[in-house]
Amino acid sequence: MSDCYWMLESASYSLAHFTHQNFPMQLVDSHCHINFDPLADDLDGLLERARMNHVNYMLCVSVCLEDYPQIAELALNNDQIFASVGVHPNYQDCHEPSVEELISLAELENVVAIGETGLDYFRNEGDLTWQQERFKRHIEAAKSVNKPLIIHTREAKHDTMDMLEEFGAESCGGVMHCFSEDWETAKRALDIGFYISFSGIVTFKSADQLREVARKAPMDRILVETDSPYLAPVPLRGKTNEPSFVVHTAQCVADLKGVALEEIAAYTTQNFFRLFSQAKPLPNDHCH
Ligand SMILES: [Zn+2]
Ligand SMILES: [Zn+2]
Repeated sequence: MSDCYWMLESASYSLAHFTHQNFPMQLVDSHCHINFDPLADDLDGLLERARMNHVNYMLCVSVCLEDYPQIAELALNNDQIFASVGVHPNYQDCHEPSVEELISLAELENVVAIGETGLDYFRNEGDLTWQQERFKRHIEAAKSVNKPLIIHTREAKHDTMDMLEEFGAESCGGVMHCFSEDWETAKRALDIGFYISFSGIVTFKSADQLREVARKAPMDRILVETDSPYLAPVPLRGKTNEPSFVVHTAQCVADLKGVALEEIAAYTTQNFFRLFSQAKPLPNDHCH
């Protein structure tokens, strides 16, 4: 482990140093749930702390259609917040979306992606055909509106990749969010044009396999995220996670790749706006 720790200590130096440059660093939190408690209670504070840490944009990800109106409103009222629409594989007692419903919501202008969707065999047991059918409907909707998929996968890497390949998800693209699988799975995702997003897990002591993936993944196909309010990165582990904390994950990835934090920030920001092409940076920002 070690190699993340010393860089995290130097993060404060890098940030303070870079604040005085002419072109300030920018980061994007590519996956958060700021509509969840307790984050939703202090949205102004959260956005201010994000800005202070150069986190200028964030994608608030939908987990059920019941939540979607709240997320849409957040995106409508803030140029720096983007929205997705989808139903999480673990949400069983919620409205089951049809392809048509997903398409009609996904066509809205401020929806930049479909998800989160995928397979999770860790938290649900028994016959999970319903999860697979739901996942398939999301893939169909994403292809139909040509917007990228946000994929959640846990203890289901083979089935997840099989379905993405079989149902032609290559045509709409997407991201493997909060990636925590092996290089073989990352390679399969990269081979169909998908991006790999790293969360605070990459900073965890036990995550050697994941750090290997971060070292190998091409610079132009990686993203960083918080998945807040969960999974706060080292050295803030155990706290309520929030978008400003993504800087620690970016710092860890920078260290693993042997480059400056600013370089990871620039790549992941460009990658974000390339993948989520409906998301538009503010006019004065140079994100492309
Ligand atoms: Zn997830
Ligand atoms: Zn999530």
